[in-house]
Amino acid sequence: MMESALTARDRVGVQDFVLLENHTSEVAFIENLRKRFKENLIYTYIGSVLVSVNPYKDLEIYTKQHMERYRGVNFYEVSPHIYAISDNAYRSMRTERRDQCILISGESGAGKTEASKKVLQYYAVTCPASGHVETVKDRLLQSNPVLEAFGNAKTLRNDNSSRFGKYMDIQFDFKGAPVGGHIINYLLEKSRVVHQSHGERNFHIFYQLIEGGEEDLLRRLGLERTPQQYQYLVKRAIPPLPPGGQCPKVSSINDRNEWKVVRKALTVIGFSDDEVEELLNIIASVLHLGNVQFGGEDGGNAYITTDTQIKYLARLMSPLNQEQAGAARDALSKAVYGRTFTWLVNKINASLAFKVSLYYHISNMAGSFELQFCINYCNEKLQQLFIELTLKSEQEEYEAEGITWEPVQYFNNKIICDLVEEKFKGIISILDEECLRPGDASDLTFLEKLEKTLGGHAHFVTHKLADGKTRKMMGREDFRMIHYAGEVNYNVNGFLDKNNDLLFRNLKEVMCLSENKILTQCFDREELTDKKRPETAATQFKNSLAKLMEILMSKEPSYVRCIKPNDAKQAGRFDEVLIRHQVKYLGLMENLRVRRAGFAYRRRYEIFLQRYKSLCPDTWPSWDGRLVDGVSTLVKHLGYKPEEYKLGRSKIFIRFPKTLFATEDALETR
Ligand code: ADP
Repeated sequence: MMESALTARDRVGVQDFVLLENHTSEVAFIENLRKRFKENLIYTYIGSVLVSVNPYKDLEIYTKQHMERYRGVNFYEVSPHIYAISDNAYRSMRTERRDQCILISGESGAGKTEASKKVLQYYAVTCPASGHVETVKDRLLQSNPVLEAFGNAKTLRNDNSSRFGKYMDIQFDFKGAPVGGHIINYLLEKSRVVHQSHGERNFHIFYQLIEGGEEDLLRRLGLERTPQQYQYLVKRAIPPLPPGGQCPKVSSINDRNEWKVVRKALTVIGFSDDEVEELLNIIASVLHLGNVQFGGEDGGNAYITTDTQIKYLARLMSPLNQEQAGAARDALSKAVYGRTFTWLVNKINASLAFKVSLYYHISNMAGSFELQFCINYCNEKLQQLFIELTLKSEQEEYEAEGITWEPVQYFNNKIICDLVEEKFKGIISILDEECLRPGDASDLTFLEKLEKTLGGHAHFVTHKLADGKTRKMMGREDFRMIHYAGEVNYNVNGFLDKNNDLLFRNLKEVMCLSENKILTQCFDREELTDKKRPETAATQFKNSLAKLMEILMSKEPSYVRCIKPNDAKQAGRFDEVLIRHQVKYLGLMENLRVRRAGFAYRRRYEIFLQRYKSLCPDTWPSWDGRLVDGVSTLVKHLGYKPEEYKLGRSKIFIRFPKTLFATEDALETR
């Protein structure tokens, strides 16, 4: 409750960062997080933004009683919680009739997926039921294990890391019952299908199927129960290439049990047995495909060294050399898996029937081109949206309350978004141009073009200095971007290939001929006759991001900012360096600055009066006049100076935390 949090602030810190005495101090910010984390208080607000620190242990704060505590209660009257955010969004939707979205961000392992599940569970338990609501609830909840099986993997940072961005809507009917949902997926990390870094794994589904699949099923799919058999799961080192993932088993993951959960979930979502079989056939084919190995002939052409009966592959790939054939095989595996994943998401959407509105999530983190560059770009866009909307809502509140707006200075990162997406001279434009250019275009000519076009840009750097000298500490194949959250170096190696994302035409043709019903939906014949060049990966991403921003702009956002306290996934460990970095790149200090630019604290009159009326003889035990007059009488009695507060239409605005704390202390010592 408000009381305990404030009076015990020395021990547990403040429950809203805007109440920090020294709000510009990062040290004070982190100290507050630390205090709360030690007390298992993982949630803290910055105004209406929820900051959440992953506890890496189960806390008793997600029970039904907790849900009840947050239901229909004013945001600030209870301690910060993901349920408060969920409930607030839900009630705003119902009372203001405005679509809501909850944006959850943070790096891999910070707790985004868990947070999104908590939101869903909250709605599943607290929303009223309607006729078919049980099915929708079930399907919404059950879509999670399925999406996780096909879209999550063990990484070094997180045993269950989402390897795709996800936007998910939930639709409620006029009575407030959830009646439908819709999921849009972004940027699945397809390269993981064919290669994983040491200590990481492929997508869960492969291991689940091998460990948990019934004997009969495995026989039909031609699979052995040993992950070590499969190149895509445990890649042997073939010099000069390093070995792949090498960790089929992970102690925290029970693939066999997960298989049962996923298999059941598929049925609940509405997959028929035949469809499940076809889906698994595809998964198995990818594993078989990975085991196809190529040798080199004298003439340089590839031949298949494995005895697998895949004649078409030999025929299609023989004009290629050994390395090209391997790359074509991997491109096929990635395309098949990627498209099947999209098919799966669409299928889940169809089962959720109605289209519509609530929340978004993107997993964040370094890695390959498709992830690092695109996700950092996505984060720039989200940051822009965040600052714009935060400023906008502050401004709207001041206007609604009839208080003069005091402009706030802030860093507008539009310049960085433009650097990436601007027509003709943005990085994506230049990359596409190089991808289209026949002849000697290569990753390095792309870098040269970047240098030529963007050389003097304040947020773009290469090893070349203006005076012709070479910048130290920068590779010749790198460019550096100064993102709002810090500097990142990008190695251009592979940019062109990944952006082209080419799949040989004849491989597409074969896929179109497949008898597998899912594959024929994934590989459309029209694609073969379409003369238009397919959009590049970066442009596709740019366009889907633009659409997403449009959707988000049309809704009222709530924010959850997730922080990972340490890299060891350990409970109780607060790694300050790691946390400082996240506070920076999540833009939390900037957010706090904007929120504090005007007033630290604001409350509705009736709530303020109710809490402090006992401190003034004129308002105690009750005030009969207008609320605003009551509050005015009360704060004058308390000695508030005119510059310390303002009275709006329905709320009091207090500029500094110390004013409020003095009042709180008076309440304590009365
Ligand atoms: P992300 O989606 O950001 O990559 P996850 O949500 O998968 O991260 O969280 C990683 C792990 O951290 C989870 O599997 C869980 O063990 C733990 N975790 C995250 N949030 C919580 C929480 N609120 N309570 C307890 N454990 C959590």
